[in-house]
This record gives sequence, C-alpha cells and structure tokens, in this order.
Amino acid sequence: MGKRRDINITALRQALNERRVEVMRDDHATEEDRAPVELDESSVGRLSRMDAMQVHAMAEATHERRQAEIHRIDAALARMDAGDYGYCLSCEEKIPAKRLELDPAVPTCVTCAARAEDVHADHVHSAD
Ligand SMILES: [Zn+2]
Repeated sequence: MGKRRDINITALRQALNERRVEVMRDDHATEEDRAPVELDESSVGRLSRMDAMQVHAMAEATHERRQAEIHRIDAALARMDAGDYGYCLSCEEKIPAKRLELDPAVPTCVTCAARAEDVHADHVHSAD
C-alpha cells in the first residue's frame, strides 16, 4: 500500500471536511427535538405527548445516523493522514477513484460492501 496518484486526495479531503460541517450543522439544527420529552400531562394532552415522543425517537435515530456519518468521515480523514486512504478496509484492494469521488468516506470496495449488505440482509431476515 502507498499513496495513490490516481486520486486527488486534496479535493477529497476538502469534500469530506465540507460534508462534516454540513452534517454537524444539520445535527445541531435538530438538537431541540432530542430534548427529553415533557412528562407534564396537565399541559400536554396524551396524543400530543405521543406525537412528541415519536418526534423525539425519530430525532434520536437521525442523530445516531449523523454521528455514524461523522465517525465514517473522521475515519476516512485518519486514513488520509496515515497514507493508506483509497484501499478497501476488508480486502485491501484499491477502491476505484469514481467510487471515492461519489462518496469520499466509503471504507470498502463494491464487492466487500455488497457482501456486508448480504450479511445485514440475512440478519434482518432471521430476525423476523
Ligand atoms: Zn474489498
């Protein structure tokens, strides 16, 4: 493994940083929805309280997804610093430049990503 010359690390790093700022900003914007649900039933009706809890649960899920995205971006930036960016984390094959341009934070090649999806699909299937 070594630094790849077929990809523009500087441009990809910039894209990652911009994406990171964007995700952080979106996450901050919905912070209020994640505040603990008011339990004061005298001021909030039962239905609206259920609505509030649903909004809260959805906001939590979105927050977790965004945190995972930031984690993914940070991991990609760390790989850039380490000089092993652009190689699949599973099989160590080169990730095609086009794939990286589409999603600079992507950690695996198409084959390994598809395999991971299959594992996930099997898991989901066996759960029901
Ligand atoms: Zn791979």
